[in-house]
Amino acid sequence: MTTAAALETLASPGTANPEWIWRSGALVPWDEAAVHVNAVGHASVAAVFEGIKAYLAADGQRLLVFRLDDHLRRLTDSARLCRLTLPHTAQELHRAVVELLTANDYRQDAYLRPWAFPGGIIREQMVPADALCEVIVDSWPFRSALDTERGCRAAVSSWLRVGESSMPPRAKAFSNYHNGRLAMMEARENGHDWPVMLNERHKVSEGAGACLALVRDGVVATPSLSSGVLPGITRDTALALLRTQGVPVEEREVDRSELCLADEIFFMGTAWEILPVTTIDGLRVADGTAGAVTRRLSEAYGRLMRGEDDRFPQWITEVPLS
Ligand code: PMP
Repeated sequence: MTTAAALETLASPGTANPEWIWRSGALVPWDEAAVHVNAVGHASVAAVFEGIKAYLAADGQRLLVFRLDDHLRRLTDSARLCRLTLPHTAQELHRAVVELLTANDYRQDAYLRPWAFPGGIIREQMVPADALCEVIVDSWPFRSALDTERGCRAAVSSWLRVGESSMPPRAKAFSNYHNGRLAMMEARENGHDWPVMLNERHKVSEGAGACLALVRDGVVATPSLSSGVLPGITRDTALALLRTQGVPVEEREVDRSELCLADEIFFMGTAWEILPVTTIDGLRVADGTAGAVTRRLSEAYGRLMRGEDDRFPQWITEVPLS
């Protein structure tokens, strides 16, 4: 399977819909979670969301939701940046996620998408700030690529990543994804898998849906949080794991030419996990396979997700299987 195909599989809900979806405070049967055609808030310019993963523990007894509270904090931050008012607290949404996973009885890795949007009939493009928000939590089985040998071809996009002068890049807002989608399509049209986006200062920012890091002479460098990146939770996790491995880490401005000179490059994201880049703008990265730092990090990430590393208990929410 090519990388692109693999990731599309991961991103799609698949054929079997779950039994339950969480909506506005209660579990609702999937088929009843409808909206009126004029209730466009769920897909409007003013909607924010999160992408969270629950991994099946190595012992097969529990689902482990990874950094749930950090994701919910980012959802709250996104809502504030987009002038939306969430009708539920982070604690309520935490309970909603646990309740939904239990109700759907997943016995495999699952992906969760909490989603906040202006509810009701909307006829105004500029959704008012006081519009009553609704929150749903959707979920679906998600096949992890942690144990898969893979790599992707990346290319610098002609589209710049949205910046502070246009839209807040720190918000995980649906409208920001038009930007990443155009970059992704350009990459695919030119025979690559994924784009790397530069920011308004023409420094490296991130991929369309994942952060990025490079390795040169044993030092990891990743664009700082002021580079127009979404503050990635996988990025933060990867940096913490690298530090425990004694790998020097720099968060700073990264030049485009550093990508061409890197010994290793990898993407980091909840959906993509740790994804090695094998070519950049058509140039092979080192020997064109995942490098040693990327491999060690990917293994450590996999152990953490499966509950085999107990150094970060604050990052794991356990959901026992019945
Ligand atoms: N950037 C963008 C635009 C994203 O959509 C994502 C995925 N949420 C990321 C970066 C990576 O963030 P995280 O590691 O928190 O999934």
